[in-house]
Amino acid sequence: QDVILKAEGLRREFVTQKPLFGKPTVVRAVDGVTLSILQGETFAIVGESGCGKSTLARLLVRLIEPTAGSVWYEGDDIARLDPRALRDLRKDLQFIFQDPLSSLNPQMTVGALIEEPLITHGIGDKVQRRARVADLLSRVGLIPTHADRYPHEFSGGQRQRIGIARALATGPRLIIGDEPVSALDVSIQAQVVNILEDLKEAFGLTLVVIAHDLAVIRHMADRVAVMYLGEIVELARAEDLFTAPQHPYTATLLAAIPIARVGSRRESARVGPRQERAQLDGDLPNPTAPPPGCRFHTRCPHAQARCSTERPALRDLGGRQVACHFAETLELTGLDGADAAR
Ligand code: SF4
Ligand code: MG
Repeated sequence: QDVILKAEGLRREFVTQKPLFGKPTVVRAVDGVTLSILQGETFAIVGESGCGKSTLARLLVRLIEPTAGSVWYEGDDIARLDPRALRDLRKDLQFIFQDPLSSLNPQMTVGALIEEPLITHGIGDKVQRRARVADLLSRVGLIPTHADRYPHEFSGGQRQRIGIARALATGPRLIIGDEPVSALDVSIQAQVVNILEDLKEAFGLTLVVIAHDLAVIRHMADRVAVMYLGEIVELARAEDLFTAPQHPYTATLLAAIPIARVGSRRESARVGPRQERAQLDGDLPNPTAPPPGCRFHTRCPHAQARCSTERPALRDLGGRQVACHFAETLELTGLDGADAAR
């Protein structure tokens, strides 16, 4: 499988200044991420809010600039493209936002919103563009007359479909969704996920999906990267990650999946015990002063003395990558066979 997008040593710092007193502090939202996205795969990036996954997503398509590192696409480092080349890049790499209402201009009709990227990139004449808008609407399960309405006239799920149609307009090769279904009712999430998967199939897309919740991506993802405080701690094939996590943080995230959400009604009785064992000790540490050694050591049930001083590198371990000193010896619990297959 070919690599479509490759990040190398990607870092992004934000400087935050407390208003009255206090020195500016630097947050490394993304701190040295290297990964490759394969052509045609669904790649998921998961972690708690504040772990840097949204920042990483924006860096991958250069919605924001890196402090250091590169993102390679078609032989170019997109972190260094000039504005014109960057505009062309937008055709190929598109972004879907978490909250469709805030990302869609409320003054524009749905038709105009979907047509806008076509005009920007000089695609088609007016008649062709209108036909393309109608086709895109039907592909996301809306009807052509919806083109004359405004975003506020639609439900959250429909608005996200409008966002998807707009992202598809230029015929992209890769779409990144930042929590594309998190703002939606659980009952609607599956619909939108199904639409994304159908479109991926129909257009041969590569998908990158950001999620804080592993339940959302467990049926979609081919590979999963788990982030903690700006770093990737585990990267593996989805099947391996779900059934046999090798980083304690991954195991904790898996334990937090409420079975009832993704399973049958019969399973709802099991939500209690599973959620109980999902407790993470304490909050995410302050990202301006991440813990020394392994960043997860303040919350890790398996931490040993070495973990608070020695930083574990992301190592190759039988077809996956793990950043834990004890990855080989820990026996971590994933989803059992029945849970994982569901
Ligand atoms: Fe836990 Fe230590 Fe592994 Fe970090 S290196 S995940 S603290 S066992
Ligand atoms: Mg986010």
